[in-house]
Amino acid sequence: MKSYITTPIYYVNGSPHIGHAFTSVMADILKRNRVAIGYELLLSTGVDEHGQKNQEAAADLGMEIKDYLDMRGKEFRAVFDMLDVSYDYFVRTSREGHKTAVAGMEQTIFDKDLIVKKQYTGTYCKGCEEFKRESDLTEDGQCPLHPTMKVEQTDETNYFLKMEPFRERLLQHIADNPDFVQPQAFRNELKQMLAEPLEDLCISRPKTRVTLGVDLPFDPDFVTYVWFDALANYLTNVGWPDEGYADWWATCEHLIGKDILKPHGVYWPIMLMAAGIPLPKKLSVHSHWVGAGGVKMSKSIGNVVDPIEIVDTLGADALRWYLARHMRSDSDSQISVDFIKQTYNSELGNKIGNLLSRAAKFSKSRFDGKVPAAGPLSAEDEAIRAAVAEAVKGFGAWIDLPDIPHNLQKVITVCDDMNTYFAEQAPWELIKNPETEERCRTVIYVTLDCLRLVFEALRQVIPTSADRALAMLNAPVSEDKAWKPALDVLGQETDLGEIENLFPRAQ
Ligand SMILES: [Zn+2]
Repeated sequence: MKSYITTPIYYVNGSPHIGHAFTSVMADILKRNRVAIGYELLLSTGVDEHGQKNQEAAADLGMEIKDYLDMRGKEFRAVFDMLDVSYDYFVRTSREGHKTAVAGMEQTIFDKDLIVKKQYTGTYCKGCEEFKRESDLTEDGQCPLHPTMKVEQTDETNYFLKMEPFRERLLQHIADNPDFVQPQAFRNELKQMLAEPLEDLCISRPKTRVTLGVDLPFDPDFVTYVWFDALANYLTNVGWPDEGYADWWATCEHLIGKDILKPHGVYWPIMLMAAGIPLPKKLSVHSHWVGAGGVKMSKSIGNVVDPIEIVDTLGADALRWYLARHMRSDSDSQISVDFIKQTYNSELGNKIGNLLSRAAKFSKSRFDGKVPAAGPLSAEDEAIRAAVAEAVKGFGAWIDLPDIPHNLQKVITVCDDMNTYFAEQAPWELIKNPETEERCRTVIYVTLDCLRLVFEALRQVIPTSADRALAMLNAPVSEDKAWKPALDVLGQETDLGEIENLFPRAQ
């Protein structure tokens, strides 16, 4: 069984920010989940290297375009590596194979008479690299996404893809495939975008204005519009148009932010229909991150959360945990350095790491460095075991984006229960009396085995910390077979590993 997950390819006119980190980490969590349950995975992420904004960003820094793109490509890659994003393919749209395939797709569509050349007079937003209709603009005539950039009046000749002939078909596809866009709110938003006749999509830019892009195969005076070229990466990554791409392509799931629903939900499916290529399986849409109090993040307010800074101070898993635990799929979520720190201390530190450290250290000192053998189980033991098994069950099956925070809520709730169980059973009291020593061993075994199961599940979310915890328990996970959440896997009378502080308190 195959599964192909894509993140958007990120525009490299600036450094990687929290939004880039978020989508790629979520894609990585979905990948780890599916690999764990036995799927063969392909995860692609990368950078979009074309278009006017990149061209200008290089010029602003006084850099040669190639040097600029190399620098940014390395920078993005380094951030994803730091964040343990296990991508299989890192996209750079300057790759020759990609450019040839894009030109091939354009020629195919052109040959079907679906591309027309015409003059266009109208408003253009450089930020979106898009022509705007009056109804797209704010009351004072600016782009709502780029209010400070000022839209420009343009009058130029370009090539356009006919969109309207495909609108009904796309609506029908959405109706026939209720899972095509998730969650539901964005499916409705997309249907709204398709409620009225579609204007032709401008797919070119004259070289007099933009040089950084793929030449149109039928007119070398023009380069391809950056979205047309960028979207095609999803296909070219799996080797399209060569044979063998279809198996992966049929499983393709695009992870996207809500701001790029239109290119992915309208332009891309219609480009594919025009080229005679099947549509991807699914669009998984997420909302954005805003600062504390719902304030947009900005340098001037000073509430920007820099992913590199967080990784340097708290580690990748602190950030992964926060993003995974606190994302909302249908509304914006709040983030700040303080929120991340608090969640790290209170959840990873106090609720999970501390319990592991207490139970493992107890076992080390009282049971000769070994996991004790359990005696008969009490009703309380059975109850906590059942609760843990239930709480992690979700990670033993296929998860979608909204399942991530949902499943983590269950894990945190059951960690509270485990802490209560440990406090109530009070093994440090039980050990004092020879008559209750066996009971003590059982409580420690149950606690450690439950923690082992929790960390096995958390390998999908905080892989480095989870593997370190499992090494302390001397319970590495075999990756040879599909993972199934199970109790009683922790070996009795086996040596514990070195006990370390998994989540040192952040000040
Ligand atoms: Zn704009």
